[in-house]
Amino acid sequence: MWRKAGLGSRLLLAFLAIAGLPSLAGLLGWVELRDVAQTQSIIVERTIPAVAEVRAIAEESARIVSLAPELAEVSTQAGRQARAAYLMGQVAALRQRLSNFATLAPDTDAVTALRATVERISDDIVNLNRMAQRRLFLRSLFDGRLDEGIAAAEELVQLTNTLVANAHMGTTATISNLYEIDEQNAAREERFRTFDKLLEVDLFQLERMYELRSRSAGIGLLMNQLKTAKAATAISSINEEFHRHFAIVERRVGAILDPVRAAQAHALVEKLRHLKGGGPLNESVFELRQQAVETEDDIQRLQDHGRATSAQLGRKAQDLVDQSEAVARAAGLEAEQAVSSGLIRLMLVTLTALAVSGGILWFYVRGNVIRRLDRLAHSMVALAHGDHNISISVEGADEIARMEHSTEFFREEAIRKSKLEAERVQTERELRQHRNELQSLVEQRTVELQDEATAHAVARRKAEQADRAKSEFLAMMSHEIRTPMNGILGMLRILSETGMRDDQTRHVSTALASGESLLTILNDILDYSKLEHGHMEVECVDFDPRALTTQIADLFRPRATERNVRLIMDYPDDLPGALCGDPAKLRQILFNLVSNALKFTTDGEVVLRVRKLAQNSDEITVMFEVSDTGTGIPPDAQEKIFDAFVQVDASIARRYGGSGLGLAISKRFAEALSADLSVESTPGVGTVFSLRVKLDIGDITLIDPPFSGNTAFEQLAPLRVLVVEDNDVNQLVAHSYLARMGHDAVCVPDGFAALAAAQNSQYDVILMDINLPHLDGVEATRRIRRLSNKRFAEVPIIAMSAQVASEDIEDYLDAGMDCFLAKPVSPERLVAALTEAMSGAKRGVFLSPRFLSTSEPIQDSLPPAPDILRETLIHDRDVIGRSRTEEIVNLFADNCAENVGAIESALEAGEFDNAAAIAHRLKSSTANFRLDELSELLEKLESELRIGNTEQAHRLTENLKSESLCATRQILNLWSELNQPQSDEQPVAVAIPS
Ligand code: ADP
Repeated sequence: MWRKAGLGSRLLLAFLAIAGLPSLAGLLGWVELRDVAQTQSIIVERTIPAVAEVRAIAEESARIVSLAPELAEVSTQAGRQARAAYLMGQVAALRQRLSNFATLAPDTDAVTALRATVERISDDIVNLNRMAQRRLFLRSLFDGRLDEGIAAAEELVQLTNTLVANAHMGTTATISNLYEIDEQNAAREERFRTFDKLLEVDLFQLERMYELRSRSAGIGLLMNQLKTAKAATAISSINEEFHRHFAIVERRVGAILDPVRAAQAHALVEKLRHLKGGGPLNESVFELRQQAVETEDDIQRLQDHGRATSAQLGRKAQDLVDQSEAVARAAGLEAEQAVSSGLIRLMLVTLTALAVSGGILWFYVRGNVIRRLDRLAHSMVALAHGDHNISISVEGADEIARMEHSTEFFREEAIRKSKLEAERVQTERELRQHRNELQSLVEQRTVELQDEATAHAVARRKAEQADRAKSEFLAMMSHEIRTPMNGILGMLRILSETGMRDDQTRHVSTALASGESLLTILNDILDYSKLEHGHMEVECVDFDPRALTTQIADLFRPRATERNVRLIMDYPDDLPGALCGDPAKLRQILFNLVSNALKFTTDGEVVLRVRKLAQNSDEITVMFEVSDTGTGIPPDAQEKIFDAFVQVDASIARRYGGSGLGLAISKRFAEALSADLSVESTPGVGTVFSLRVKLDIGDITLIDPPFSGNTAFEQLAPLRVLVVEDNDVNQLVAHSYLARMGHDAVCVPDGFAALAAAQNSQYDVILMDINLPHLDGVEATRRIRRLSNKRFAEVPIIAMSAQVASEDIEDYLDAGMDCFLAKPVSPERLVAALTEAMSGAKRGVFLSPRFLSTSEPIQDSLPPAPDILRETLIHDRDVIGRSRTEEIVNLFADNCAENVGAIESALEAGEFDNAAAIAHRLKSSTANFRLDELSELLEKLESELRIGNTEQAHRLTENLKSESLCATRQILNLWSELNQPQSDEQPVAVAIPS
């Protein structure tokens, strides 16, 4: 059974044995101490009230005794009764306490003694009460009789006073008679008789009355002495004295002659006699006084007795208290002894229990638990160190036995695991070997791949370089070819106008058509390669959408007419007058689309339609559509036509020419504008190209009003205008505009020439440049204003300058100029300025729209772009005509080359001021073509030359050479491009570079 018990049960039993013994000892100790505590509590419970009762009894009895004299001292019977009743009540309460105490105190003798004492006190009070009653009685009797006696004595004294006075008067009268007898010389007898009477009657009577009075007074005095007499001897001597006085008073009263007074005196003597008493109950006042004194003594004795009894009671009570306290102390001592002996026993038992517990722990736990656990721990350590050959014996069926089982299981598992581990190590070794082989393979492959990647990168770089070189080559070639091509075309045009034979004319026009076709291709290639490799700037300027579409339609109208195709423009009424965006790109896209539509339509119509799709306060979405009734595009080709160099089929190139770049360029432009360019087409029916674009709503005030030459001319009568301008190009531009407007213009190059012209000839108006050689425009104006001939002096003068700072303008106007016109001059503003000047108005300022929003004119302007240039050229061509524009273009080109050469030579010669003046002049003509970048460069050069910075000036001149060449070429190319014939009819064979 013990062997079968688990470790838990065994430990529980051991625990019970260990914990049980001290618990048992504790229990025994507790029982013992509980008895002691009970006894103690009984003693305490009884002793404390008993002591309290005894103390109360002693205190109350002392109080009764202390109150007893009050009972003796009372002056009325009622007071006495009340006091006696109170004291008896106190005695009754005392008795009650005594009986209470009797229940608590087991000592009956003590109680009996106490009770006897209390009864004695009670008897004393009863006796005292009786004595007090008697004393009161005696006092009232004595006082009554004594007072009566004293009153009688006093009355008798007064009566005798009268009698003494009477006797005295009688004597006095007798003596007075003696004097009369003597005077009358009366007989001797008479005298002797009177003497006798005086001696026998009057003096004797007087003496007796005196004696009566003194005895009566003596009696009163005695009575008063009796009141306070206490000793029996004193009382008896007063008694004897009284009797002596009374006997004499009795006798002398008989001698009172006056009968009335004698009767009164007798009555008073009777009252005095009562003092002596009579009969058994009628004691004399002396006896009464004696009894009262005795009663007082009795009372005193009784009080003394009471006090003694009370003291006795106090002592007894104290004895009882002492007894009770002794009992309590003895009980406490007993309890203390019981507790300490209990503690000693408990300690002994605990120590025994501890010893027994230690024994159990030592013999059982060490033998049965620790030893086995030690063995188990050793086994585990051995197992942990890989020693699997140990033996593990299992004892019994307790928890340690289960651990021994588990350890044995673990040992077997470890043996199995070590076998597996050996296998795993083997496998891992093989795997590592494989991995190493694989890694070397991968490394080998990586090296190969890296080599390949490097080779690819090199190849790609080469390809990119080749691609870039190809594009650059294409751009360069197309650029280089275009210049001679323009020359060839120009020559061919001149040749065609020289009056040739028909066949020659045909050949020349074929050559012209082929050349123009080739030029288009070259232009496209150039544009595309620029798009491919250059950064595309998107500008945002205000433009008139109606004017833009109208221009396109107008541009193609002749070609449409030639081809017998209707070109319809469908423009809505709800579009704003001004939009903000990149009109050049829009124009080029629409240009391409309309050009294609006309190219692939032989019959029917081409519609250029504009529609508003959506609009809010700032933005508008516009759809531009170009639809035709032409050949259409097959569905598979529709996906590719926006790629570069793609045409639907080769025959198209042969029939219609083209490079397959127009739509690719358009698509790129559309992307740059964040617009969507798409196509829908049905072969044989027609094609619709749609451009959906989001644009800002523009400010109509920032758009130059469209130039309508006729209206402007109608406003002003033909004028004689003096143009003072040192720059040839600017002269030609102004002259051309003025001529186109119908005015007669004379140009002079400087201030002195202007002054001379102005005072020799009558001009309607002078256009005065500010920066002029020798004499500037401001000074020339001042001098003109000072001319003696008033007609010449008051001529309207319009200042022209690119310096548009307001303080500068103020200076010009203050010098006497009428209004200000900003350079570059546009025909629209020129008309406005002329109109203003001719109207007599003063101080008008006509700025170019791009200066309206900024006070920084050149620096903030947009970089030169072929589109701006194109726009300018188209505009000039529309206003002043093709030949004038061409003249300006050529003049600019020559002028540019010439001036750049002059700047270079002046710089070489160290003539910085001269070079600066030339740079300034050239800058002024670049503004006509809005070549802002070139203008800026010239301005920089001018300022560097002015401060004599040679190094910078040389560097900038080098830049200028290439930039001006580039700009000139650009202008010439654009111009020749704009002058292409509009017909594509002539088939052209062009080899497209692949
Ligand atoms: P290309 O200069 O050859 O006209 P584009 O890029 O402008 O090059 O046009 C590519 C091709 O798309 C054209 O060759 C033509 O086959 C087709 N295409 C373009 N527009 C039209 C159209 N309106 N009608 C029919 N085919 C068109």
